[in-house]
Amino acid sequence: MKTISVKDKDFELYISEQEINQIVCQLAKNISEDLKEENLLILAVLNGSFIFVADLVRNLEFDAEISFVKISSYNGVSSTGTVKQLIGLNESLENRTVLVVEDIIDSGLSMGMLLEELKKYNPKDVKVCTFLFKPNMFKGSYEVHYVGKSISDEFIVGYGLDYDGMGRKYGEIYQLKQ
Ligand code: 5GP
Ligand code: MG
Repeated sequence: MKTISVKDKDFELYISEQEINQIVCQLAKNISEDLKEENLLILAVLNGSFIFVADLVRNLEFDAEISFVKISSYNGVSSTGTVKQLIGLNESLENRTVLVVEDIIDSGLSMGMLLEELKKYNPKDVKVCTFLFKPNMFKGSYEVHYVGKSISDEFIVGYGLDYDGMGRKYGEIYQLKQ
């Protein structure tokens, strides 16, 4: 089994490049069928989705506008601790269909916050696409329309996903070695 080291941890191969490619092509096909008639705005969530979204858009059967947003956490003055903030949204969403693209949805809290924020801009519709989904961890009460692959609870790196900032460059996905 192929293994890699990222900082102080070892990871083993979990999803091959070939399987990733198949997943991306299937997602692109489904999204193309459903959304090609829309004046679609793709909003990719940085940093983790940068490789996935690059592959995804190149497999779409139509052209779409693409932009990037970031959810930044900072320690606010409130007693609740971490406050999340949406940065980088410059496009008007008014009456547009938006496809939000994430690398992974775990608890779903980040995406939930983002969806609440996007509502304020009066989009026509918002669809959610994630490459990986952890159904056992998910606490959201919204629909995830396009899921590349559902996985169990292991921590993964590669294909844009990091461990402590590193490991994003790999073309395959690796899981933490037990
Ligand atoms: P959520 O808010 O859904 O719990 O977490 C979303 C974010 O946590 C993801 O966008 C990702 O940045 C990070 N995350 C969740 N699970 C993993 C994982 O297994 N590996 C990595 N590298 N990041 C993860
Ligand atoms: Mg992410």
